[in-house]
Amino acid sequence: DDHLARIAASFTIHPDFPIKGVNFRNILPVMRDPQLFGWLIDECVARIKDKFSQPIDLVIGLEARGFLFGPAIALRLNCGFAPIRKPGKLPGKLATVSFKKEYGEDVFEIEEDAIMPGQRIVIVDDVLATGGTLRAATQLMEQRKALPVGTFVIVELLGLGGRNRVPSCEALFSFSG
Ligand code: IMP
Repeated sequence: DDHLARIAASFTIHPDFPIKGVNFRNILPVMRDPQLFGWLIDECVARIKDKFSQPIDLVIGLEARGFLFGPAIALRLNCGFAPIRKPGKLPGKLATVSFKKEYGEDVFEIEEDAIMPGQRIVIVDDVLATGGTLRAATQLMEQRKALPVGTFVIVELLGLGGRNRVPSCEALFSFSG
């Protein structure tokens, strides 16, 4: 519809960023316009309500762009929010998962008491590319016995294998990677 088209038109493409051969999709311009940003949150909330079992207990945002719109979605769903972060940022007892990136390993952390067993969780991020990031986050939630764990992105980049690693991921927009 018109709102979706106007949101999509605000995204920018950056060839060869951050490295040669990558076509970087930038969703940040949508947040410069409160009307567009409001529509984006409306669309995210409507899609999540439609696609995931209710009620949702917790929205999890992935560092860093999942932090920008995850809390707005959580407020509208009347549920909590918790961040998954890179190592060394969160205090107290943590649950961690390590995962392979293109070069070497990376680690995700979450505060151990942020998630209770049996909670219905939706993990949100801006972009699904190879799916390694969302898959690791899903594994971290499963480790904490959250169930079921849904995944949601604003943009899915097609042809990079993300769909294979996170088959049930819900995406507002799909573009060729
Ligand atoms: P993946 O693990 O390969 O699926 O990469 C997804 C992660 O990298 C997400 O946290 C995204 O924020 C980031 N990312 C990968 N490609 C893009 C892009 O084209 N635009 C914005 N973020 C991207």
